[in-house]
Amino acid sequence: MISYQLRQREYLLQISRAMTARLDLPSLLGLILTSAADMVRGEAGVIALRSGESSTTLTIRASYGIPQTLLPRFAPLLSGFPVDAAEYAIPDLQVRLSKVVQSIRLPLHQVIALPLTFEERLLGVIYLFRSGGVEFSTNDRSVLVSFGDQAAIAVRNAQLYQQVSAEKQQLDAVIQNSANGIMILDPSLRIRAFNRALSRITGWPPEQAIGRPCYQVLALDEVVGKDICASDRAEVAFEGDEPAVAEGTLTRPGGARATVSVTYTPLYDETGQLSDVIANVTDITRFREAEEMKTTFVSVVSHELKTPVSLIKGYASTLAREDAQWDMATLREGLQVIGDEADRLNGLINNLLDASRIQAGAFHIERGDVSLPRLAEKVVESFRTQTTMHRFSLDFPPDYPCVVGDEERLRQVFNNLLSNAIKYAPQGGEIRVGGWVEADNVVAYVADQGIGIPQDEQGQLFQRFHRVDSSLRRSTQGAGLGLYLCNSIIEAHGGRIWLRSEPGKGTTVFFALPLENDPQ
Ligand code: ATP
Ligand code: MG
Repeated sequence: MISYQLRQREYLLQISRAMTARLDLPSLLGLILTSAADMVRGEAGVIALRSGESSTTLTIRASYGIPQTLLPRFAPLLSGFPVDAAEYAIPDLQVRLSKVVQSIRLPLHQVIALPLTFEERLLGVIYLFRSGGVEFSTNDRSVLVSFGDQAAIAVRNAQLYQQVSAEKQQLDAVIQNSANGIMILDPSLRIRAFNRALSRITGWPPEQAIGRPCYQVLALDEVVGKDICASDRAEVAFEGDEPAVAEGTLTRPGGARATVSVTYTPLYDETGQLSDVIANVTDITRFREAEEMKTTFVSVVSHELKTPVSLIKGYASTLAREDAQWDMATLREGLQVIGDEADRLNGLINNLLDASRIQAGAFHIERGDVSLPRLAEKVVESFRTQTTMHRFSLDFPPDYPCVVGDEERLRQVFNNLLSNAIKYAPQGGEIRVGGWVEADNVVAYVADQGIGIPQDEQGQLFQRFHRVDSSLRRSTQGAGLGLYLCNSIIEAHGGRIWLRSEPGKGTTVFFALPLENDPQ
């Protein structure tokens, strides 16, 4: 008997060590249960843990020697547990057991219940059963009680560990799925974590970015503010726990550029040492572009509006001078300028209104049959009177079919293209307007022999307010809306517009319209 008790103590010690090393809750519960059963020669057992922090019922989390299907029948042993019971005695244990035994037909007549308590709160209960014979002794009970204290600590640790791991997983998921770019840096500014959004912004795959110094991945130019990544020592770069903010431009591995705003937040440990830096990165490229667009808009529009207004004002006040006698020719010329400038103002205002309608998605197309050759001819006629330096020619095949479209809008397209052809061929030359027929669409073009457009500018001309920077641009008037409107009109017809140009030789702008024009 003595040696049995000794063995029990020895075993208890071993088990305690094994238990504290185990953090995986299911496997820990398995170990506790089999060890407890071993120690007191229990033939079966269950461990039930409290279902929630403030729940009064328990849930079976591990069992031993009992078929799984019978576990629900142990319910009488699992309910009615107050939350904070230091010394736990389960009332009516025998009565509860006999209810269970009746329903499961297993010969489990002896029961011993061991509460697992931690800081005066009940975590759960271990039940051990024997089929009969010797009752559980006081020695069994005392061995189990000291075992129970150890087991409770191990269970509490494993539960906390599980909780912390779940919280960490949750946090990782939040960081990973955040729409903002986020990275976590260690105090030496190496990247510890790097989320998907940041990978999209920087073009760096997370597995390549993690472990690198952050200045390699987030290398900003044109920095405004305080770029912590570029500093030598993070600890001295921050002012207390104030976040630092920087804006700048980064170049992706492929060469594309993006403007970003970065907020660095320092985290300190309990001794006041910098432990992590969290960097929140937002792509503000579009925002910057929109800002620039707004500035351009204001300067272009004010310039373009001011010129005709001051001409009109100048001529009007000159002609109205009381001390001057104007001959008929001067008067006519002055009124002609006033009329032309008023037309120009009107044209510009209409273009601006159209551009804002397009922006607001309220741009409508009326549909009818349109003959592009006839329309082109009419527009060319109206331009002939405006220039003596340019020759015009029309070149459409005779079987060129009608298209379904909005005649007024398509007139606007020819108007804009011809006005550009004249404006950007100040030396004169030939302007050809023509077209051809393809399988499913018709193509029309306006070609000039003017200054042409540099290759790298060609892609952007269809954007609002975009004008090629050249000396001619500064001397010609224009808001940079003509091609934007043409593009929007052609797209609204289900078509496509593009250009071919060689600096010094000339430019041809083409557009294609579908022949089977489904209303959209
Ligand atoms: P707006 O048409 O609003 O009066 P704009 O003519 O400057 O002003 P767009 O017609 O949109 O604006 O043209 C944009 C820019 O593209 C022009 O400023 C010019 O630099 C360039 N461009 C357009 N057409 C030609 C052309 N035929 N030859 C050379 N450059 C051109
Ligand atoms: Mg134009």
